[in-house]
Amino acid sequence: MRQVAVLGATGSIGTSALDVIARHPGRMRASVLAAGRNVQALVRLCRAHRPDHAVIADPALLGELREGLRQAGLATAAHAGDEALQALAGGPACDTVVAAIVGAAGLASTLAAAAAGKRLLLANKESLVLAGELVIQAARASGAQIVPIDSEHSAVFQCMRSRTPEGVRRLVLTASGGPFRGWDRARLAGVTPAQAVAHPKWSMGPKISVDSATLMNKGLEVIEAHHLFDLPGERIDVLVHPQSLVHALVEYVDGSTLAQLGLPDMRTALAVGLGWPERLESGVAGLDLLAHGRLEFEAPDMEAFPCLRLAREALAAGGTATAVLNAANEEAVSAFLQGRIGFLAIPALVEEALAALPPQPAASLEVLLAADAEARRLTRARIDSPSTRIATA
Ligand code: NAD
Ligand code: MG
Repeated sequence: MRQVAVLGATGSIGTSALDVIARHPGRMRASVLAAGRNVQALVRLCRAHRPDHAVIADPALLGELREGLRQAGLATAAHAGDEALQALAGGPACDTVVAAIVGAAGLASTLAAAAAGKRLLLANKESLVLAGELVIQAARASGAQIVPIDSEHSAVFQCMRSRTPEGVRRLVLTASGGPFRGWDRARLAGVTPAQAVAHPKWSMGPKISVDSATLMNKGLEVIEAHHLFDLPGERIDVLVHPQSLVHALVEYVDGSTLAQLGLPDMRTALAVGLGWPERLESGVAGLDLLAHGRLEFEAPDMEAFPCLRLAREALAAGGTATAVLNAANEEAVSAFLQGRIGFLAIPALVEEALAALPPQPAASLEVLLAADAEARRLTRARIDSPSTRIATA
C-alpha cells in the first residue's frame, strides 16, 4: 500500500493528486496532507481522505486546525510549521511525496523528501530553479526516484522511459502560448490580473497561470528540464503549440522523434508518477484526434515575452542566477496579482534583479537562500518606491 504525502493538498495539483489517489483505494492512500493557510479546505480534505497527519504552514493556525479535526471526529494528528512539514516529508509516515507547494516555499520539504529516499512526484518546479543541483544530488545519494509532475517533463520522462539515455539529440518542450499569444507589447501593457489568470487550456493556480502568460513558466521549465534530464539549455528547445495536446518531444541522433500526447489534464502525469512503471486509471479520457483536428506549431515571440530569454540567460550564467530569477519573478508576480504593478513590469523587474546581483558560485544552500532573499529585498524595494518608475519600454 503506497502511503502518499500530498504537500500543497488544497491547490490545483494537490486536488488532482487526491482525485487519482481516491480511484485506487486498494493500492494507495493519502497519509499526510499539508496546506498553506486554508484550514477549512484542509479539514474538508481530511474528512474525505482520512490521513494520519495534517499540516498547516502558518503556526498561528494550529489551534484552529486541531479544533476542526476534533469537531470532524477525526484521529488525524494536527501539525504546523516548516519543521513539522520537513519531518513528515522525510519520515516514516509516507513513502511517496507529491511536492505541490507553489514557489520557493516548497524547497525545504522537497529536499527533505529527496534526502530521505522517497518517490518524489515533483510539481514544485521552483525548487529545481532555485537549487536544482542540490535536489538532484540529494536524490542520487539517497536513491530517491524523482518523477516529474509537469506535463512537458512527464512527457519527456515517458518518451525516455525515465532516465536520459545515450543518443538524445535534443528535447522540445511545447508551450500553449498562454492567453496573450500573438499580442504585442503595446497591448500587453494594459493586461489585468483577471485576464492573465484565465488560461486558455489549463486550469492552474494563480502564480503559474501568470507565469504561463509571461512565458516565464516555459523559462522555468527549460531550467527544470536541464536538471531533471542532465542536458544543457542549448539542447532544450521551446515550440508554441496552441492546442496543448503534444506535451513534449524527444529527438534522437538517428532522426527519430518521440512525442507524448494527451488531453491537458494533470491527472495523467500524476497517475504516471503514482503508478510508474505501471499504468493506472486517472479519470482522463483518451485523445480523439479526429475531433481535435489540427495540431499547430510556431516559434515563441521572444520580443513580446522576454521572460523566456531571461531564464535562458540565467541558466547560462549559472551559480546563483536562477535563484535570483526565481525570487524576483515570485515577488513581481505577487505584486502584479495585487494590482500594484503592470504586466510588463514583471520581466523588467526580473531583468533589473539579474543585472544588480551578478551570479556567485552556488556553493551551498545558504548561498542560494541568501541570493533568493537579496533578490526579494531588492525587487520589493523597487515595487515599493513610487519615485523610481520601473522601465517597461
Ligand atoms: P496552487 O496555488 O493551486 O496551490 C498551491 C498549494 O501550496 C496550496 O495548497 C497552498 O496552500 C500551498 N502552499 C502555499 N504556500 C505554502 C507554504 N508556505 N507552505 C505550505 N504550503 C503552501 O498552485 P498549483 O497550480 O497547484 O501549483 C503548485 C506547484 O505545481 C507550482 O510549483 C506549479 O508551478 C507546479 N505546477 C502546477 C501545474 C498545474 O497544472 N497547476 C502544472 C505544472 C506544475
Ligand atoms: Mg508545464
